[in-house]
Amino acid sequence: IDTYSNKRVLILGLAKSGTAAAKLVHELGAIVTVNDQKPYEENEAAQQLEKLGIQVVCGHHPLELLNNTDVIVKNPGIPYTNPLLQEAMKRNIPIITEVELAFEISEAPFIGITGSNGKTTTTTLIYQMLEHGNKSPLIAGNIGTVACEVAQQATTENVIVTELSSFQLMGINTFQPRISLLLNIFDAHLDYHGTKEEYIEAKAAIFKNQTSNDYAVVNADDDSVINASKGSKATIVPFSTTKQLETGAYLKNDMVYFNDEAIITLDEIVLPGKHNLENILAAVAVVKLYGCDNEAICKVLTTFAGVKHRVQYVSTVKGRKFYNDSKATNMLATKVALSAFSQPTIWLAGGLDRGNEFDELKESLKNVKAVFTFGETAKKIERVAKEVGIQLVKCVDNVEQAVNDAYNCSDEGDVVLLSPACASWDQFKTFEERGDIFIESVHKLK
Ligand code: ADP
Repeated sequence: IDTYSNKRVLILGLAKSGTAAAKLVHELGAIVTVNDQKPYEENEAAQQLEKLGIQVVCGHHPLELLNNTDVIVKNPGIPYTNPLLQEAMKRNIPIITEVELAFEISEAPFIGITGSNGKTTTTTLIYQMLEHGNKSPLIAGNIGTVACEVAQQATTENVIVTELSSFQLMGINTFQPRISLLLNIFDAHLDYHGTKEEYIEAKAAIFKNQTSNDYAVVNADDDSVINASKGSKATIVPFSTTKQLETGAYLKNDMVYFNDEAIITLDEIVLPGKHNLENILAAVAVVKLYGCDNEAICKVLTTFAGVKHRVQYVSTVKGRKFYNDSKATNMLATKVALSAFSQPTIWLAGGLDRGNEFDELKESLKNVKAVFTFGETAKKIERVAKEVGIQLVKCVDNVEQAVNDAYNCSDEGDVVLLSPACASWDQFKTFEERGDIFIESVHKLK
């Protein structure tokens, strides 16, 4: 920690993480400058930091800042193509992110979770299992408090569970999680990372500083993940939803296994969908490696209904199960959600029109018996649903009406799924608002 005393630190980009990082290194005795794009007059965070005696430069990124800089802590969202960062790299000034800083000051070990999809769900599963297993976990990052604030409070009794984006992973220097998890690699975010190879390389940074005393939990069903983990010195622990393994987490006779131990039967698990099975096996592997008992694992798996708005189980009304997948703002996410159910499904969809025709979804509509569609894309979704021969297809005004109509035409055993395949901004402020209205409408049915 002494390493920051009198060190000249440039914080690039404020937001929540930059502000926390600035305060932290200031407290550790560093000479801190913050640089943020937002003009000073509108920049409350900068004004607050200035009161602490921190130098602030707002509205532009002058290269002269680098003349007095030993290390840069950058916001994960700022790309490395930024001219100031380009110049810093030329001058060999180290560039890190806030997670790195958190790691440097933390007494507690880290569990780091990354992948293209499923990070939040898996991070939440791991956190809850460790919590029930009395392992004193702290959650940091996207779905919790900023990592360096958490790290300041953490003791050797804690373990910090953190979700990591590729943007954060690219800034890794010494970060060494006790357990790392790489869930999957899809062709996402390629606009930022350039090629798929570069994207894989960024994900592989999670293993970079691990040694044989650490664990790397990897998806044995994903070739890109296996490739990314090839150079890792950590002890590799695989998981698979498709094949039985000698070690790691896998399925056998409709049960979840870790090594040779049976943990829970599939029909006891509340979270729906094959994609979630992947998240579950990954979480089981991680917490077993951390010494969590089976009781804690089962407690979570028999009760956890999903992260809000992500194929979240809402309620059962007279034998009809309602799920909220408002986070599905594109077709890929909706495909995943529709494939999660084998029961007859009533599908609620529609929203902002981005010019898609939705024909891609046709193959995913096999179990769909009725469709209620709303928003700008209602007519387009109506056409697609009719073309695959679904009898009951109706354009409605809003989500509440869709819920009522769905309920009225449903039978016991049906699933009613909100998975819009569209962004929400034509009718709602956010996808969260859309999901909340769905939940409210379902509760009103009772
Ligand atoms: P992330 O934090 O990586 O965005 P989330 O847990 O928030 O992931 O899930 C977002 C959406 O991604 C889910 O609603 C689901 O459609 C999809 N998803 C979740 N887990 C997986 C997985 N393991 N494989 C493929 N898709 C997934």
